[in-house]
Amino acid sequence: MEMFRDVVDIKTSNRVEIRDITPQVQDVLKKSQIETGLVNVFSRHSTSGVVVNENESGLVKDFQNMLEKLVPQGAGYQHDRIDNNADSHLRSFLIGSSQSIPLENGSLALGTWQSIFFVDLDGPRNRKITVTVIGEY
Ligand code: ZN
Repeated sequence: MEMFRDVVDIKTSNRVEIRDITPQVQDVLKKSQIETGLVNVFSRHSTSGVVVNENESGLVKDFQNMLEKLVPQGAGYQHDRIDNNADSHLRSFLIGSSQSIPLENGSLALGTWQSIFFVDLDGPRNRKITVTVIGEY
């Protein structure tokens, strides 16, 4: 069993940003030279998330609208007394901070309409995503 780990830097430009990071994850896979196994994409921030879904521009707007409806900004949260970003933490709590994707023949075994998204919920910021590849050459 082999293991390879790399950190991907992402600079976001909006408070909420849903960014397709599939190419960056594929770059790490290539570097790892691991062919079969599992890749884990983990965000090291409590106001962000990682999801797998379809990269269609209308749908990406729908995701953002859904987050705003489910967890509106400034709706009387306790944490806003000290940091004013409770909505970002709560949205992250719902989304989760990592995804694991199977790796087959050196490629991500994603479905035809699946992409890996990093979701910044309190940008714009410089973010770090840890990509860990575990498997066999
Ligand atoms: Zn906070």
